[in-house]
Amino acid sequence: MNLYLEKFNNENEVYHEFFDELRNYAKLYNVPIIKRDSLVLIQSLLNIINAKTMLEIGTAIGYSALSFVCSKDDLIVDTIERNEEMYKEACKNIKQLNKQNNINVIFQDALEVDNTELRKYDVIFIDAAKAQYQKFFDKYAPLLNENGIILTDNIIFHGCVEEQENLSKNVRSMVKKIDNYNHYLSTLEEYITYYIDSGDGLAITMRKK
Ligand code: SAH
Ligand code: MG
Repeated sequence: MNLYLEKFNNENEVYHEFFDELRNYAKLYNVPIIKRDSLVLIQSLLNIINAKTMLEIGTAIGYSALSFVCSKDDLIVDTIERNEEMYKEACKNIKQLNKQNNINVIFQDALEVDNTELRKYDVIFIDAAKAQYQKFFDKYAPLLNENGIILTDNIIFHGCVEEQENLSKNVRSMVKKIDNYNHYLSTLEEYITYYIDSGDGLAITMRKK
């Protein structure tokens, strides 16, 4: 993010020293947390639509979930994480900011969660294993409130989706899956998707009115 703008957003960020620590931790241990500009975009969206409930798929260390609830006090986030180390780190961080009442971490694979046990959401944020994006979408879209939005992070995969030559086999297969997902979103009759060139790419999907 532009350093000049970043400074203003930093000043806006409640507990910004704490978030700096989380960003440093993520860098040190290669945790793929959301890029700053996408984060700020989502924080503004949460406030514009006055979101009260959010489902996040992929908690990692709790950085995004904590950033969301800190930008909107009355937001409740249910967030799903399958990796035990990440889950523990997230719980620790959430406790440190005393946000246990706003964030509920579910330690399970998102494809195995019983979604009839969950509530309805104003925002669904898909940010876990990229190969499974379409499965997450199909499973959780029915939980979206009438005027809710579904956000998907990492839809450009560092620009690799456009330039598919010279990539390793694994990366190419991942890129193909993201590309298929982007196409999939665009074919849905019931939904409209906006593809935003922010951070690692962010898709904003909503029901057609
Ligand atoms: N939202 C976080 C980053 C999440 S990184 C942030 O921006 O701060 C992606 C996380 O999704 C990883 O911690 C990984 O363990 C988790 N994950 C991947 N596939 C998953 C699945 N099927 N169910 C639950 N968690 C999953
Ligand atoms: Mg991400």
